[in-house]
Amino acid sequence: MKNKKKILMITSEVVPYAKTGGLADMVSALSLKLKEKGHDVRIVLPRYYDIPKEMLEKLDLPLGIPTGTGEKWTAVYTDMLKKKVPVYFIDHEGLFGRAGIYGPSGGEAFDDNAERYNLLCRGAFQLCRFLDWIPDIMHCHDWSSGLVPLYLNTIEYNNEFAETASVFTIHNIGYQGVFSSDQTIHTGLLEQSSMLHNDDMNFLKCALDQSHIITTVSPTYAKEIQSPEYGSGLEQLLDYRKYDLFGILNGVDYSDWNPETDKYIKPHNYSSENIKNKTLIKKRLQKMAGLEEDSSKPLIGIVSRLADQKGFKELCEPFYGCLASLCRYIDLQFVILGTGEKWCEDELNRLSKTLPNLTAWTQFDNEKAHLIEAGSDFFLMPSRYEPCGLNQLYSLKYGTLPIVRKTGGLADTVENYNQDSGQGTGFTFNDLTPEAIYNVVGWAVWAWFNKPKHIVTMQKRAMERDFSWTDSIVKYNEIYDKALEKRRS
Ligand code: ADP
Repeated sequence: MKNKKKILMITSEVVPYAKTGGLADMVSALSLKLKEKGHDVRIVLPRYYDIPKEMLEKLDLPLGIPTGTGEKWTAVYTDMLKKKVPVYFIDHEGLFGRAGIYGPSGGEAFDDNAERYNLLCRGAFQLCRFLDWIPDIMHCHDWSSGLVPLYLNTIEYNNEFAETASVFTIHNIGYQGVFSSDQTIHTGLLEQSSMLHNDDMNFLKCALDQSHIITTVSPTYAKEIQSPEYGSGLEQLLDYRKYDLFGILNGVDYSDWNPETDKYIKPHNYSSENIKNKTLIKKRLQKMAGLEEDSSKPLIGIVSRLADQKGFKELCEPFYGCLASLCRYIDLQFVILGTGEKWCEDELNRLSKTLPNLTAWTQFDNEKAHLIEAGSDFFLMPSRYEPCGLNQLYSLKYGTLPIVRKTGGLADTVENYNQDSGQGTGFTFNDLTPEAIYNVVGWAVWAWFNKPKHIVTMQKRAMERDFSWTDSIVKYNEIYDKALEKRRS
């Protein structure tokens, strides 16, 4: 097996160019780590309208991309991610020249997404040809790159790509890229069965059917998605492919998320050895959020997409969620940063106006995300499901004890508090109900006031846990070898 491989990441998001969630962080961090290990890694994504051309370099080519509805001519731009990893941007005015990634901010998905992301998938092959750089591995991320394994097994099977293998990573099985079956026309492929699921075109199902190896982003989620409760209708296919399915925990890019070096909390950086400054960040956050500047009050932070997946119904649906009761009956403060479903943004804004100990910012703001991670005492994630979750990993590093539902990557990374011994790195609960969230937050607040020594030792323990990429990179390398073996056989 080759020790140093050529790896192309095909993705719809990567920080700092385009991000709606953890996918963007993961692709960037994984690529940089693989590069550090000596692999030749490159990334391809669309050039969305919001990525300014001025910060990129234009390659000297028009790229012709064949599709089922005719050849599309695109420009290609490039940049170096952190001066290390080449990133290529496929630029097509008609399909990507508009604001938004999958749809306008806060709106419905674009109705031509099948055509848009088909162009990315086909374009990945054309780009490699143009660069005269044929990857050993095409590593696809989530539904938007889900047709790549199919092309590799059909029209790109017996050519320059004859030795290329596909790895597909599920970041979130809740988003599958489902379109009416007539959208398969964009692929130009006559044999369509692997693209179809319940009579619809389904990008994710296609990838699960066709890729050499499938990974997902935590061991527990890999098991969960083989069950009807978590499999979103694809559990049987995943069960069938269980010997090719691996759960590898995402790592954290500690060059971005580390209280010792974080530029957003300067000059009050802190470490597990010297955590005093955390209180100063807390005060800064309280001030910014218009909350009472009192370090003795337990401050609970949330940074999240406002989606059902994240437990927001149980937290704040009118006449059902527990957030208002938590703020009224428990001596605590809340600061919430998030964007997403409109009802949820409206409700959080309404509660924020009526409850003095709750501030909600319904916006996407990286600086505030860092401040909340650093300045809060606890970080709440009552997720219905959580493939990996990055925020709880950031929280651990910042000594901000996570309060999480025991599912997916949250179950794999947060150790529950033992109030007798003081062991643990956070607080976990099982049932997703408003009562259970109320109780677990109440438990954390109880520990804050009654077991302060436990809280301090838990913070230190949490900060010393290592969720860097070290172990996961070794596992990805093994997976790439397995995929190449499968390709050969
Ligand atoms: P998911 O990918 O399901 O959204 P993760 O926890 O894996 O959840 O990753 C979420 C990422 O998005 C984190 O880096 C988090 O800080 C960031 N994020 C989410 N919402 C916001 C927001 N409103 N402002 C800034 N960052 C956000």
